[in-house]
Amino acid sequence: MEERLRISEIFHSIQGETRSVGRPAIFVRLTGCPLRCRYCDTAYAFHGGEWMEPAAIHERIRAAGSPLVVVTGGEPLAQRGVLPFLSRLCDDGYEVFLETSGALPVADVDGRVVKVLDLKTPDSGEAPRNLWENISHLSPQDQVKFVLCSREDYDWAREVLEREQLATRCEVLFSPAHGELTLRNLAEWILADRLPVRLQIQLHKLIWGDVPGH
Ligand code: SF4
Repeated sequence: MEERLRISEIFHSIQGETRSVGRPAIFVRLTGCPLRCRYCDTAYAFHGGEWMEPAAIHERIRAAGSPLVVVTGGEPLAQRGVLPFLSRLCDDGYEVFLETSGALPVADVDGRVVKVLDLKTPDSGEAPRNLWENISHLSPQDQVKFVLCSREDYDWAREVLEREQLATRCEVLFSPAHGELTLRNLAEWILADRLPVRLQIQLHKLIWGDVPGH
């Protein structure tokens, strides 16, 4: 049974990150997040938003005409109603990506949903919130993302990559925190260490800048 969800925004845009980068998608941003990452670029989604009935959300998605739906936040899993919502999207034939902080359990997320799990680095200020058991629920279609602020963050991520054998479970994404680490530095470190990861940029910020609604 689907419940109402508190929604910050629904918008049609180009996916700026993850394996689906560059593809048109409809984004559903849920309100609220229990974390406070130092570099958060969606703090406007911490509060406010609008309670929407599931039928109204599904209608907005249908109207966008995109086969790819990205459910993001905030932290979408902070609203319990998101689980049946995700399953219904899969039932309706959409390709569904869930972007989650990794601080809340993913065990009950529908197996058809592609999970993009952020592992929080020390410089995010939220590393103690990482729920490590989530890693055991990742499958090859999923992705783990590290947003890196510094060389120290990079070294930490490299250790986690090895300790958890992440690259054998799923794709691993390394992304520089906007304005904190250069792409070039990160690229050179990845090459020097021959890491089996994918370097990410935030394409939507290159296109539109750091503004809501994209
Ligand atoms: S988990 Fe995401 S939405 Fe929540 S504070 Fe961190 S960056 Fe912002």
